Amino acid sequence: MSRIRILSEALASQVAAGEVVERPAAVVRELVDNSLDAGATHVEVHVQRGGTALIRVSDNGSGMDREDAFMSLERHATSKIRTKEDLTCISTLGFRGEALPSIASVSRFRLATRETHALAGAEVEVNGGKLSAVRDYGGAPGTVIEARSLFYNIPARRKFLRSEQTEFAHVEQQFRLHAISNSQTAFTLVRDGNVVFHLPATHDLLARIEGISGKEVARRLIKVPETILHGIRVTGYICTAGISRPNKQLQFTFLNNRSVDSAAVSFGLREGYHTALMKGQYPITFLFLEMPPEAFDINVHPAKKEVRFHNSNAVREAVIEAVKNALSGHSSISSGHVPFSSSAYQATEHTPALIPETEQTSLRRDWTALTTWQSGPVETEIPPEQNVVPAAVAEIIQPISVALPAQQSESVLTPLPAAPATIPKFRILGVLNKLYVLMESDDGLVMMDQHAAHERVLFEQMRRAMEHDGVPSQRLLLPLTLQVSPRDYDLLSRNLETLAKLGIEAEPFGNNAFKVDAMPTFLKTDDPLDLLRDVIDELASASSKTSSLRLGEDMIATTVCRHAVKANDYLRVPELQKLLDDLYACEMPYCCPHGRPTLIQISNAELDKKFGRRAP
Ligand code: ADP
Ligand code: MG
Repeated sequence: MSRIRILSEALASQVAAGEVVERPAAVVRELVDNSLDAGATHVEVHVQRGGTALIRVSDNGSGMDREDAFMSLERHATSKIRTKEDLTCISTLGFRGEALPSIASVSRFRLATRETHALAGAEVEVNGGKLSAVRDYGGAPGTVIEARSLFYNIPARRKFLRSEQTEFAHVEQQFRLHAISNSQTAFTLVRDGNVVFHLPATHDLLARIEGISGKEVARRLIKVPETILHGIRVTGYICTAGISRPNKQLQFTFLNNRSVDSAAVSFGLREGYHTALMKGQYPITFLFLEMPPEAFDINVHPAKKEVRFHNSNAVREAVIEAVKNALSGHSSISSGHVPFSSSAYQATEHTPALIPETEQTSLRRDWTALTTWQSGPVETEIPPEQNVVPAAVAEIIQPISVALPAQQSESVLTPLPAAPATIPKFRILGVLNKLYVLMESDDGLVMMDQHAAHERVLFEQMRRAMEHDGVPSQRLLLPLTLQVSPRDYDLLSRNLETLAKLGIEAEPFGNNAFKVDAMPTFLKTDDPLDLLRDVIDELASASSKTSSLRLGEDMIATTVCRHAVKANDYLRVPELQKLLDDLYACEMPYCCPHGRPTLIQISNAELDKKFGRRAP
């Protein structure tokens, strides 16, 4: 039965035209989209020379009859939408009817397809857009599409292809996106004859994530409890508090199983993690949003990656709620962080170690591919040595997760302080470098960053104070005069109440000046104006939508860090014990207000392994 028809001219022009095929990864994206739309349960992707020589996608989906096989190569030929109304509620991955003709016009193209019960299928060959051969096809039901020598007839475009390595990294990342969002479909990726991924179909998303990203990423993830808000369903896996990345490359987000990049979702993630994430860092997420197709418009970008939500606030709130639900149910001691030095990796000292030494080699490749993707063309390949975790560090630090009983909190902005039900017993052994407190636990060695821990404790104490009576303040002997620019004058004038909650008492003093009468007691600085300048910066960078409570929190986080306990303050055992107890009384004990870990653990098992007492 023939299912494909030509779109009306009017409808066709409503589908914004654009470049569909910019590189091999885009061809893979379009072909695999088609396979999934055709209901395939197994999709195989073969590439040669990074996809520049060959891309072949085979599936066991519905297949096409002879007429449709021809029709599919016509511009704007699609079986997926018919009317203008359909465009407002797209549920398939494809809908433009542009991919196959576009790909066929820039490659040596072969389409072989057979419907399940058809006696014979059809095979069509097209070279640079011109039909060159037609045959019956007797292969397995489903569809095989090959694009060889991409851009062979458009030298100008071929020149823009990067190295095979880079093109393959993009293909591989595209493959990951599909595989993560379709775990119930089996996927295979073959590169130059070698199997890179062979992923069986599974109902277990975490198993698929592990298959794609490795054990070390998977074990740092927590499940997002199903969250439904404003008609939006959010599920998936996200990293625990205290783990972050310097870029967005491991922030996978999907909308109705389509990979999307959305400011509303990113914003929701950031808000949801709140102080568990330091500025400029991004969480690792595999987040799935589902909502009715009428609630968004995907038809804004030819690559269908961008999305416009009709109510982006609702999306943001649903994401915040989901992240909050996930984080409030789990806490864990961090495994510590390893300073990677690769420029492509761009890790900062705050990046936790995710890769134990034994799995470095295989994972390093994965991570490099993951982290270089989407950051624009990658010109240089990174010599492996640069990616290696410093041996001494990698040898020692192993990720250990300690799942603690669930804590409950009311809302992301006003969490109820709740201590973990069980406080682990630690015996303090000593302090290293006047900074790291070494402790013995039942499971091994635990280290606490006393500065980060103190920041967390102070942060939560002050936030509580701010929510109630305000941060205690101290009258200045002599009031200070603060001269500011007209813009800053405006900013401060509008936020005097928030400042008062923070223990800063200031009032307008005419002529773009303020009189400052009192400052918070915690302040340890010689120059209070220093703090005020920080505060103005913070006000200026906060968006107008930021709530005063959030603004206060941000200011506490910034100022506490700068003006609280110094790393090399000498603390005695009772003080250390108090710090530890206070830390465990915190709502989020495992990271400082900027998202850095406060505690790191090395298990006895790992120590035994390192000392050769047990076979690894
Ligand atoms: P779109 O996906 O936007 O509809 P394409 O050019 O990608 O446009 O594909 C055109 C049509 O060809 C699709 O609508 C579908 O009917 C058919 N088609 C493409 N690939 C496959 C496939 N792997 N299996 C079955 N049908 C396919
Ligand atoms: Mg398509």
